[in-house]
Formats: sequence, C-alpha cells, structure tokens
Amino acid sequence: MSILKKASRFAARHLTCRWLPLGKEKGVVSFTFDDVPASACHRGAELLQQYQARGTFYICGGLTDGVEQTQACHSVRDLHNLVAAGHELGCHTFSHTNCANTSLMEIQRDWDKNQAFFHAEKLPLSGFAFPFGAYDFGSKVAASKRFFYNRITGGGAQLRRADLSALRAQALYAATTPSDVILKLIQQVASDGGWLIFYSHEVSAHPGPWGTTPEQLEMALRLATQEGCRILPVQDAITFFQT
Ligand SMILES: [Zn+2]
Repeated sequence: MSILKKASRFAARHLTCRWLPLGKEKGVVSFTFDDVPASACHRGAELLQQYQARGTFYICGGLTDGVEQTQACHSVRDLHNLVAAGHELGCHTFSHTNCANTSLMEIQRDWDKNQAFFHAEKLPLSGFAFPFGAYDFGSKVAASKRFFYNRITGGGAQLRRADLSALRAQALYAATTPSDVILKLIQQVASDGGWLIFYSHEVSAHPGPWGTTPEQLEMALRLATQEGCRILPVQDAITFFQT
C-alpha cells in the first residue's frame, strides 16, 4: 500500500468521526445483509420476524433480479415486501463499487444511480454500507455528507461509543464465525449496553464463504433474546441510543 493510501486510511479512521454515545441499560444487536441475495429477503426476514425483530438490507440496484456468486439476488417485489414488513433498506452503491480505490466522481455517480433506482421504485432509503467495508478519507467524508450513517465491516462490537460515519460490524458467516465468538460478543454488549451489528449475505443451508445458515442466524437471534438485548434495525438503534 502506498504512503498516500496509508495516510488516507489513517485520517479516515481518526479524523472524520461523528460519535454516538452508547452505554444504555440494555445492549442492542442489529442484523444486516449486504448486496442482497433473495434468500436473505425470504428466509432471513422470516427468521427475524419470528423473533419480533427487523433487519437492515443494504441494496445494490445493479444486482436486482441478478445472480451473484451463484446466489439469486433480490427482486423489486422482495424489497417492497421487506419495507411492508417493517425492515430497513439502505444503500450499498449501485455497482458494488470499492470506495477505497474509485474516484470520488465515480462514487458520487454510482450513489446517484442507486438513489435514482430507489426513487423510481418508490422505495425508502436510509443509511449506507461500504462494499467490502472499504473506504478512505475522501469517500468517508463524502458518504457522511450524503447519508445519515455509514456502516463498515472490521469485526467486533461497539462499546461506549460508535462512529456514525463508520459503524463497525461483525461477520455472521457459517464458515468462519464460531458460535463461541457470537455468544461472547452478545454477552459483552448485553452487559455493557453496547451495540453489536452483524452482517451477512445469503441465508442458506449450503452457503458460500460469505453467507450464513438458518441455524446460525436463528442461534444468534435466540442468544440476543436470551441475553435481554434489543434487536433493532440500524436506523432504529441509532434513534434508541440518541434518546
Ligand atoms: Zn457487498
């Protein structure tokens, strides 16, 4: 990585933060899905609803009715069904653009395209999730101006405070996220009144490396409930911590 890129990443991490204080009497767990495969809209949403919970789905309009990594993607009808059931829709760029190595002009054009897609389909749009969790100084500042919040990846939970310009999230991947890690993180936010945001892609009995199974998702929902956490979409969680 070049020195300029390293400096940009350092500045992005440390200089452009908008802090949201955490530390409520209860912890919060959010479940998010990126891109988004159809199975997340169907099986994923259904499991969340069984726990009276709702999730956040970060959509690439360029993947609507498409196939990604052998997974069938969402349809416009799926998105309307999610909204009707009370789930949150967010932006994930139109073309799954890597914001750390794309010019700001191209990123802005891509955001415009995704927002136009939402507008044309009369769908509400909340915050933004960086594809690949990748960002630099310029894209973090630009995303903060355009969206109320931005989600990244990075792993782990957020305690005491969270950066609205780069909300950290933990992978929920059947292949690589052990059950004891899920339990430990949920217990941590439950006792500290912090915030754990999971992210995944497909919800399938045979997921690829970036997907979860119905069993793993159900286990995380059950543990969050047992530990007394609130399960909220990202936008609602921000409102909860702000009030
Ligand atoms: Zn993605």
